[in-house]
Amino acid sequence: MSDSSLPAGAWPEMQPGWVWLVGAGPGDPGLLTLHALNALRQAEVIVHDALVAPAILDWANPGAERIAMGKRGGRASPKQGEISALLIERARAGRRVLRLKGGDPFVFGRGGEEGQDCIRAGVPIRVVPGISAGIGGLAYAGIPVTHGAVNSSVTFVTGHDAGGETPPLDWAAIARASPVIVIYMGVRTLGEIAGRLMAAGRAADEPVALVQNASTPQQRVLVSRLDRAADAAQAAGIGAPAIVCIGRTVLLRQALDWQALAAGQPPADPDPIGFG
Ligand code: SAH
Repeated sequence: MSDSSLPAGAWPEMQPGWVWLVGAGPGDPGLLTLHALNALRQAEVIVHDALVAPAILDWANPGAERIAMGKRGGRASPKQGEISALLIERARAGRRVLRLKGGDPFVFGRGGEEGQDCIRAGVPIRVVPGISAGIGGLAYAGIPVTHGAVNSSVTFVTGHDAGGETPPLDWAAIARASPVIVIYMGVRTLGEIAGRLMAAGRAADEPVALVQNASTPQQRVLVSRLDRAADAAQAAGIGAPAIVCIGRTVLLRQALDWQALAAGQPPADPDPIGFG
């Protein structure tokens, strides 16, 4: 496309009748990909999650039809089929359709399901990955999701399933095998999850971080320990959207809290896990 605000290159053109499933990242507009920006500029219909920041939507083609869809903690969420039906209907009407989701569309965002619905209906799709809250959101709190001195694996889980219950995961296996556990949608069920992990042998004093509204001006970070994190989060009023990280990588925040460093605060501990 000829838009001078995108770097020169062969940016893909959105074709009429297509649906692009695009990740918007965790919040900071700068974490959008260039493919996402390219899509915002071209789309005629934008179906976006409630979580997508207004500043990101400001980059959309001003004539685009915008439809807010998708869940927001507490409020009734549209049935999944309704979103797919809308995408398919607009695409069949020959529109260029952008489905914009928080984070990455294929990480606990039902992007896979929506993509399948489109393909089953004969509507072609393109997928644009985004920066997921469980990686990029934690990075904004100075927490690396892996660190050479801590973990060679990480487990991403969702704190509740579509029905709002704690999903039937094998928590004992996760407790044994996963040095770092990142929980999406996990604030409400954190107490229950922590209990299961401790019952399976995880230490009560294991570090836990909650990052609310990561990468936005409203970002809040709470660092606690496994046995107290749920109560501490409640006392601090930390609610959705928040990402939870359980494991020793949380300690690295003491060295890597780059937002505090930028504000002139020295690191609390440049070597918090004693490997140096
Ligand atoms: N597809 C999204 C996840 C959707 S599930 C992604 O890849 O990030 C929604 C959950 O994501 C929220 O309940 C929260 O756990 C997490 N989340 C999304 N944006 C967030 C943000 N800015 N800060 C903290 N957590 C966030």
